[in-house]
Amino acid sequence: MDRELFHKCVGGNIVLLIQAFRKKFIIPEFDSFVSKIDQIYNTVQKNHNGHVAVYIPHLAKFSPDLWGVSLCTVDGQRHSIGDTKEPFCLQSCVKPLEYAVAIHEAGTEKVHRYVGMEPSGLKFNKLYLDEEDKPHNPMVNAGAIVISSLIKPGSNKAEKFDYMMDFIKKMAGREYVGFSNATFQSEKETGDRNFAIGYYLKEKKCFPTGAEMIDALDFYFQLCSIEVTCESGSVMAATLAHGGICPITGERVLSAEAVRNTLSLMHSCGMYDFSGQMAFHVGLPAKSGVSGAVLLVVPNVMGVMCWSPPLDKVGNSVRGIHFCQELVSSFNFHNYDNLRHLVKKQDPRRQDRDDRVRDFESYEPSVSSLPPPSRWGNIPLDDAMQFGHSAVVKVLQDYQVAYLHGGMGQNTSNSV
Ligand code: GLU
Repeated sequence: MDRELFHKCVGGNIVLLIQAFRKKFIIPEFDSFVSKIDQIYNTVQKNHNGHVAVYIPHLAKFSPDLWGVSLCTVDGQRHSIGDTKEPFCLQSCVKPLEYAVAIHEAGTEKVHRYVGMEPSGLKFNKLYLDEEDKPHNPMVNAGAIVISSLIKPGSNKAEKFDYMMDFIKKMAGREYVGFSNATFQSEKETGDRNFAIGYYLKEKKCFPTGAEMIDALDFYFQLCSIEVTCESGSVMAATLAHGGICPITGERVLSAEAVRNTLSLMHSCGMYDFSGQMAFHVGLPAKSGVSGAVLLVVPNVMGVMCWSPPLDKVGNSVRGIHFCQELVSSFNFHNYDNLRHLVKKQDPRRQDRDDRVRDFESYEPSVSSLPPPSRWGNIPLDDAMQFGHSAVVKVLQDYQVAYLHGGMGQNTSNSV
């Protein structure tokens, strides 16, 4: 390979490669980390408890042996093992995403006028409201049905669906996101309980003015029928872990406010009637669905999608829960694992992980280094040269000369 070809090959990924060679990724010893993940996967595979959901044919057809785990770190490091390319429906795993989009769009105050933030202590599809006659939280059916009426109000059904699909695709880094029409039709046909919840919500005036209950319900059924794979689902989880920025595309998809709220509610209400135990034992935000999916977030580290159809009594994937427990018994990912004086578990994270932020924050502008360096230590001119953007190089160099000769004020730098 000559210099030119090498440059062509690495050009688009230079930042990623530099991080890799400098071992600057969030999980520097990635090989040993994922070999532990594979060991956990193999242990959990032997767990044959639980039953596949059979209330609709599309779920009943899945083999109980299917088992996949994918992870994606906030730096875009990826690992998959098992049945990670098989599509499955998000079902209740769509609830946090739907809520995140509603907050991103309308803000906390508006959304929480219609739905609470308290665990219900009851089954997810219970016909029950809190004492203000609001659904307890967005992770139960009543809450998710109301939230579906808050998304893109005033637009037609097709526009709403496209809008949500677009969001979910962006969260998944444009990887596989599909729609199962068979699931959608069956959900409607068998959805008596959800219709009952819908009518109850309507009676109690839980919907915003102008919203049609039947349309909200229909949209909710559509959202449950959106398909992902473990691979694409792990990128969605990683977007949440990364504060709303997709680690694969670098695009900001959700506001920090939307992500913070969503993770808080996943933590307290995400795992049906196991939510309290999950918060206790695993200490991480997660959401499960009746398809056997578990979307797990390790904030600032990685997103994980586990999928295995057999469910326990409360509706969580048996292998999904088992995996989360094993993960946290091997690594210090539990929210309270890092308290002082606690017995140390393995920490796979970069030890100097705050340096990038510190370098940036401690920067003091001086004449010799005009714009603050990026978290990789580069100034814009370095990057422009590196990527061969000669026009940009010229603008920056002209600016630098002008600046050094006192011709331009500091405030002008913002416009460059
Ligand atoms: N479509 C299901 C329902 O609304 C979602 C079930 C679930 O994953 O919790 O009943």
